[in-house]
Amino acid sequence: MSLPSPIENPEVKFTQIFINNEWVNSASGKTFPTINPSTGEKICDVQEGDKADVDKAVKAAREAFKLGSPWRRLDASKRGVLLNKLADLVMRDMVYIASLEVMDNGKPFTYAIGDMYFTESILRYLAGWADKNVGQTIPVDGDLFAYTRHEPIGVCGGIIPWNFPLPCLAMKLAPAVACGNVCVIKLAEQTPLTGLYLCSLIKEAGFPPGVVNIIPGYGPTAGAAISEHMDVDKVAFTGSTQVGQLIMEAAAKSNLKGVTLELGGKSPCVVFPDADLDMAIQRSHDGLFFNSGQVCVAGSRTFVHEDIYDEFVKRSTELAIKRNVGNPFEKTTQSGPQIDEEQFNKILELIQSGIAQGAKLQCGGKRLGDKGYFVQSTVFSDVTDNMRIAKEEIFGPVQQIIKFKDMEEVIERANDTKYGLAAAVFTKDLDKALKFSSSVQAGVVWVNTYGGGLQSPFGGFKMSGIGREM
Ligand code: NAD
Repeated sequence: MSLPSPIENPEVKFTQIFINNEWVNSASGKTFPTINPSTGEKICDVQEGDKADVDKAVKAAREAFKLGSPWRRLDASKRGVLLNKLADLVMRDMVYIASLEVMDNGKPFTYAIGDMYFTESILRYLAGWADKNVGQTIPVDGDLFAYTRHEPIGVCGGIIPWNFPLPCLAMKLAPAVACGNVCVIKLAEQTPLTGLYLCSLIKEAGFPPGVVNIIPGYGPTAGAAISEHMDVDKVAFTGSTQVGQLIMEAAAKSNLKGVTLELGGKSPCVVFPDADLDMAIQRSHDGLFFNSGQVCVAGSRTFVHEDIYDEFVKRSTELAIKRNVGNPFEKTTQSGPQIDEEQFNKILELIQSGIAQGAKLQCGGKRLGDKGYFVQSTVFSDVTDNMRIAKEEIFGPVQQIIKFKDMEEVIERANDTKYGLAAAVFTKDLDKALKFSSSVQAGVVWVNTYGGGLQSPFGGFKMSGIGREM
């Protein structure tokens, strides 16, 4: 398949809050800027949703959810049809939406197009669930007939991050509406533009007013208003572990709303000496540097067996040096900038800590260029488990290569973290692969690959989250 060409300066068509299938200004009259991370310059101002706007959106959603409403009377299969129609519209407009994402998020166009296919797959997979969410009949004692019926929960809040703006939005919206719920979702303040464009497609697809409401705005204001709301029945959050804890606390202190949390990670990627080395080096590299390292499942602790360690480090370094970092509108670019100044500074500070704590900097380590938030692809060797770069989530293009000796030891060290989102193992020995997979505490374990498996349950062990998506 040949890649289409991006639109280099896509027009921004929507900057307002989306409630009841209409675009409205914020109640406070406030706006906030969204920044192009490739340049550090403002793209435009967006309406800043806050508590009053969340209240309005929740009211609209509650009205749409009333018994007997068009939404409650719609056939389950028709909810699936609507989600499939939304997927059609995303694919119709994918070049425009992907271009908008390149400008707002900084991810390379090739990968922004990947996000469109990812979004399509999420929407279509969940569309299929709409009329297959079945209950049970139960052979209870006596002359009774008992059955379970899966009821929609009601108003579902969603709070999403900036690293995969449209797929994350689909991941919250699609399961909720497939099961007959209504939703109020807050976009990440760094990347509001593609989500706001999606609102126009939600309306065009024919969702009744109030079923999907989308709020651009900040976390401590609009986000907190959702998690604290007495009339929101459930909240699904993707983001940092720290904010996840605040969400759960707010849910407990308000109305005990249900909580799903998809949080951070420090995922181990383990390479045994019998692995296909070419493949293991390439996939460990991809598993870390994809999306400029801004991936919750990034393989940010690469454990390599001592017999192949030196060669692995040498070749991983060569790959990182060759990685094409730059203008995300160029089709050959593999990594764009980091999302914002805050993440950029955090990454550079963690790199300095790695150097100070004695890890060996093989390549990178610095800012790239003098404009925007670009960081060089960075590889550290001689990393030990107690260093900050081996413990903290960096969320940037920084690979830690750590040496190990045997299976028992690497299992223990892989599990020695508060996180448990993902893991990978590279080996040709099925016994080793199965032993590692069943011993590592991670929501997903990949064998001889890194990533994939969209239709499987997704979520974390330990402080990587609660609940499963898909
Ligand atoms: P973040 O937690 O700061 O922000 C995520 C969302 O929460 C944003 O929409 C933000 O506005 C909102 N928010 C912030 N404070 C809030 C509050 N007090 N109440 C309610 N909402 C609030 O995270 P981030 O910096 O945007 O993203 C990076 C982090 O997200 C990383 O730790 C990464 O691992 C994690 N993440 C996890 C997954 C996953 O699926 N597990 C996916 C993407 C990112």
